[in-house]
Amino acid sequence: MLALRYASGSDIGRRRAENQDSVYASGRLLAVADGVGGNGHGDVASATVINTISALDQSGPGPDPLGALAAAVDDASRRLKEMAAADPTLQRMGTTLTALLWDGSRLALAHIGDSRGYMLRDGMLYQITRDHTLVQTMVDDGRMTPEQAATHPRRSLLMRALETTSAAKPDLSVRDVLRGDRYLLCSDGLTAVVSAEEIHDMLSTVPDPETAVRRLIDLANEGGGPDNITCVVADVI
Ligand code: MG
Repeated sequence: MLALRYASGSDIGRRRAENQDSVYASGRLLAVADGVGGNGHGDVASATVINTISALDQSGPGPDPLGALAAAVDDASRRLKEMAAADPTLQRMGTTLTALLWDGSRLALAHIGDSRGYMLRDGMLYQITRDHTLVQTMVDDGRMTPEQAATHPRRSLLMRALETTSAAKPDLSVRDVLRGDRYLLCSDGLTAVVSAEEIHDMLSTVPDPETAVRRLIDLANEGGGPDNITCVVADVI
């Protein structure tokens, strides 16, 4: 019988006036959302989306976790549109979402934006999400190297997010899970300043999820903490 042992944390970082990230972690649902737009109520958007999809935690593990997760993302998107229709000041809000729903043997993954998911398996670190950013598109087209993308001044420009103005188009997949897998969900406040090598090293050497979350957040702050930092670490036990 497999289960998730998990921990989560969120930190304002060192340069932002507020934390617009939202996070949810339970034995069934793990999710990170990063609100978009400085004065565009990104905090409202990320909290709304996390609150909406957290309803998945109350319903039992149905036969179709990916369908349930996709429907929850649609619900969250609809909720953002309703809020913007009722209050024009919310019209420009948006958020990323990276979420994993556990059904006891597999993980359904929904991803939109530039928060990330990683998996540590057999000592190797795999990025299991693809950033929906302009720079990632340019890397895919061969117009930019990953190194150039990582330091590009407009690297956080999103091609896709959960917004009030467009339909939700998340990447959806189902992942087979093995005992010993370790998953990390994080906002870009971590990956902007902490390299994949450092993430790999931390996840490989710190067994306790709670401590791993805290140490990753510390690393991002030691790197300057330019943005809000949110992490979820979950072990399959
Ligand atoms: Mg961010």
